[in-house]
Amino acid sequence: MKIHEYQAKEIFRRFNVPVPKGKVAFSVEEAVEAAAEIGGNIWVVKAQIHAGGRGKGGGVKLAKSPDEVRQLAGEILGMTLVTHQTGPEGKLVKRLLIEQGVNIEKELYVGITLDRAKSKITFMASTEGGVEIEKVAAESPEKILKETVDPEVGLQPYQARKLAFGLGLSGQQYKNAVNFLLSLYKAYQATDASLAEINPLVVTKEGEVIALDAKMNFDDNALYRHPEILEYRDLDEEAPLEIEASKFNLNYIKLDGNVGCMVNGAGLAMATMDIIKLAGGEPANFLDVGGTANKETVANGFKIILSDPNVRAILINIFGGIVRCDRVAQGVIDAVNEIKVEIPVVVRLEGTNAKEAGDLLKNSGLNFEVAKSLSEAAEKVTAVLR
Ligand code: GDP
Ligand code: MN
Repeated sequence: MKIHEYQAKEIFRRFNVPVPKGKVAFSVEEAVEAAAEIGGNIWVVKAQIHAGGRGKGGGVKLAKSPDEVRQLAGEILGMTLVTHQTGPEGKLVKRLLIEQGVNIEKELYVGITLDRAKSKITFMASTEGGVEIEKVAAESPEKILKETVDPEVGLQPYQARKLAFGLGLSGQQYKNAVNFLLSLYKAYQATDASLAEINPLVVTKEGEVIALDAKMNFDDNALYRHPEILEYRDLDEEAPLEIEASKFNLNYIKLDGNVGCMVNGAGLAMATMDIIKLAGGEPANFLDVGGTANKETVANGFKIILSDPNVRAILINIFGGIVRCDRVAQGVIDAVNEIKVEIPVVVRLEGTNAKEAGDLLKNSGLNFEVAKSLSEAAEKVTAVLR
């Protein structure tokens, strides 16, 4: 799960990770009030969307008076912000973060994520903050310092010192950076985060080390341990079809292709997407209807797949283990009858009661393409698109 910058900064405050004074605002009035409460004479008006690159896209602006806060808040609230992470359709801005302006001396980068290959946490730091870190990684990877952290013992003080030293800091900045890194690690670890990224992390002339930006993602499977983080969920930022699917306990991820897939089991779903690609097609989604798929799940799965206007054919690939193929077949028939599916549907059912399922499909009077093997199914579904 992703959260907004202002929410990540609320978490940071709880773990003593320094952040600028700031307040969320849902309207222009609230933005002006927030600025007054924060005080000072320079503010930053920041669009809150679940995507980075807001600065370049015009979603982060400096205001030098309350009037300017009012004007910028009016401009940014309600704008469709397009960044390299939103896609060309952009994201509607519904929330703002109003922050005190910070006197930046240097912009750095810090990130924590899980290195799945090592099964350990990787702590990254770079002097190249404030720019696209993906570019730094591609063009000058030596500028990204890395420390591997054993989750059993956590980030060790010597590792934090090594990173702070590597960032070229000294004196008060160095001391504050070490504390910053240790606190940030605690925040990451204690919340079951899967990513914490601060770009830029700034050092000020006064020696402070502050998170100017904050991004956190969380492991969905651990959210049951963190009801307070689940509260941060913003459905406006999530793909509508994925929300719909989660209501029915379907694991659905929207993709860019045009072959809709309905599969039981995540592994089989992955294999099905692979074989569609091998046959020259592009999957429109990942959909795992689960090991106990029944008529209702199948019908709901169908509706969700068909709500994607890109879908031009559907491949149903079910392995009957716990689930009986004839039940799934009946579900498919009912769903197709009910929602008037007008695109080709290729069905491959294998396992328990596969023969009965085949008979049901054949005798349904509906126009299914039945395939015996996985590769035949992929061939058939891509053939109809050619
Ligand atoms: P992103 O573009 O979505 O990553 O948003 P950021 O939070 O990183 O903001 C973009 C840029 O705005 C930063 O890299 C800073 O250069 C600038 N910025 C943000 N807050 C302040 C501030 O308090 N003072 C100044 N001078 N610049 C800021
Ligand atoms: Mn940033």
